[in-house]
Amino acid sequence: MLSKSEDQLQNLFSLLVPHKKNLIAGGICIFIYVGCWPILAALAGVLIPAIGTGDLSNVIIIIFKALVIFLIQKTAQLGQDILLAEPALSISQDLRQILFKKLQKIKLDSLEKLSSGDIIYRLTEDADRIGEIIYKTIQDTMPSSLQLIAVFGYMIYLDLYLSLATILLAPIVVFMVSKFGEKVMIAAEKSQKQVSGLAGLLGEAIQGLPLVRSFAAEDWLEKRFEKEVILHRKARYQTLKLLAYQHPVVGFIEATGILTVLAIGAARIQSGGLNSSSFSSYVAALLMLIDPISHLTTNFNEIKQGQASLKRLVAIDSEPRESSDKINAKSINEPKGELIIRDLSFSYDNNINVLNKLNLNIQPGKLTALVGPSGAGKSTIFSLILRFNIPNKGDILMDGINLTQLKAKEIRSIIAIVPQRTSVFSGTIKETILFGRKATNSDLIKSAKIANAHDFIMKLPNGYNTIIEERGTNISGGQLQRLAIARAVLGNPSILLLDEATSSLDAESEEAVQKGLQQAMKGRTVVVIAHRLVTVQEADMIYVLEKGEVSDHGNHDELIRKEGKYRELCEKQLIRQLKP
Ligand code: ADP
Repeated sequence: MLSKSEDQLQNLFSLLVPHKKNLIAGGICIFIYVGCWPILAALAGVLIPAIGTGDLSNVIIIIFKALVIFLIQKTAQLGQDILLAEPALSISQDLRQILFKKLQKIKLDSLEKLSSGDIIYRLTEDADRIGEIIYKTIQDTMPSSLQLIAVFGYMIYLDLYLSLATILLAPIVVFMVSKFGEKVMIAAEKSQKQVSGLAGLLGEAIQGLPLVRSFAAEDWLEKRFEKEVILHRKARYQTLKLLAYQHPVVGFIEATGILTVLAIGAARIQSGGLNSSSFSSYVAALLMLIDPISHLTTNFNEIKQGQASLKRLVAIDSEPRESSDKINAKSINEPKGELIIRDLSFSYDNNINVLNKLNLNIQPGKLTALVGPSGAGKSTIFSLILRFNIPNKGDILMDGINLTQLKAKEIRSIIAIVPQRTSVFSGTIKETILFGRKATNSDLIKSAKIANAHDFIMKLPNGYNTIIEERGTNISGGQLQRLAIARAVLGNPSILLLDEATSSLDAESEEAVQKGLQQAMKGRTVVVIAHRLVTVQEADMIYVLEKGEVSDHGNHDELIRKEGKYRELCEKQLIRQLKP
């Protein structure tokens, strides 16, 4: 079943419902605006003969009437533009918000596969394009279509035969327009994909610029960029070329049509079927058709281009979502912090088991370490404990309750994670630790003290109000890690997941971080992906993981006595530590 927001994405116009009042008032303005056209055509029909006969006073009266009608029409147009602008523009804003919400729900491993530049492009350019098209549709396509109907209705009223001739030409125009529209859409889709590729590469390039420089790979990156730019230009050129062809072709058909109508009109006057005044009105009305037809042609192409954008936006919809909470989810009132993992098997989308019949017994208040070579499945266990993913087989029980029975938000309030690489949003230190949660100042300071961060924060020029720049570039790696610890302990989680940093900090920072961690671990269940010997030695239980299976478990003393993987890992680390 589609959720409300998905429905809205499928049916963009439902987003306009809250703006009913503006739409109705704008609609009335459109009717007034359109209704003026036939009146003006009728006035042209009497004006031209009056000019011909030199009846100046009559000419002035007709011109005066025309001025009044023009005034009414232009006022209605102003009303229409102003009244309809707001609802139309609010759509791209709503669209962006709906999509951003969706983004928050996409499974993390699927999200990682999407390039951030591509997503940014979809949420900015594509959403803007759709907003613009909706704006044009209500503010331009609709009045133009109505103008076409009203003026043509008036032309039929003036002379049916002449109108039949006109209408015979219309399908040719429509056919040409739609054929071109199709081609333009294909070209536009290709070119948008290319822009997206360009944005993706730019995103990667900005992130990886230090790496590129350190490998002196600037030339390689420039070449790659140049290739993308050329591909983009070619795709764009294709679209522009098609558009360039379209105007002369459609224009020529229009001119042929008008000249044919003039010829038939002359014949109709000759045969006495039409008088010259009606013919003047007819020609004036015919000229009034050119403008809406040309608007509709352009808008039709833009709509086609917009469809490509919409397709790309809706594609975000098809990305797999995180599993949702059960309707009658259970709750844990006083979490103890026990985690039991039973016969757990898990594979990502490729059906190869990353974890295989895994059993872990994580006792409350104890320190459990996961060790093992890279790729053994340690991070995957964390992602399952946080319910970012759901096991294919087996269960994870928190205080005896299956994680699938609990709300994801509750799980993530009981469990906090200190990741290997801390990422922060730009903002103040206080905002970074709070991370959207409410807490008293004393709780905030308490968390910072536990994390061994309070002292360094107080030494900063604005204390807790010091602004951390994007990606935390104005504070050190060790300080950033201590902020991550403070952020994790602020909600007083019962379970702490630690992914130990492998990149070495300098000895002093390392000691400060270690002190923060030790304090944060007190009184909590801690599961640590351990790389350091100290952590491992202190652990109450160590699970040695190999290829998604527990190959051994026990405490340090027990495991080191065996000739196993654990001893091998410790020896390797010792050798590394002993190396100067
Ligand atoms: P560790 O943390 O022990 O290094 P991981 O849990 O990160 O191991 O990875 C275990 C295995 O799962 C690896 O083979 C890795 O390539 C694979 N893997 C990790 N994340 C994904 C993902 N999002 N999609 C597919 N395979 C993945």
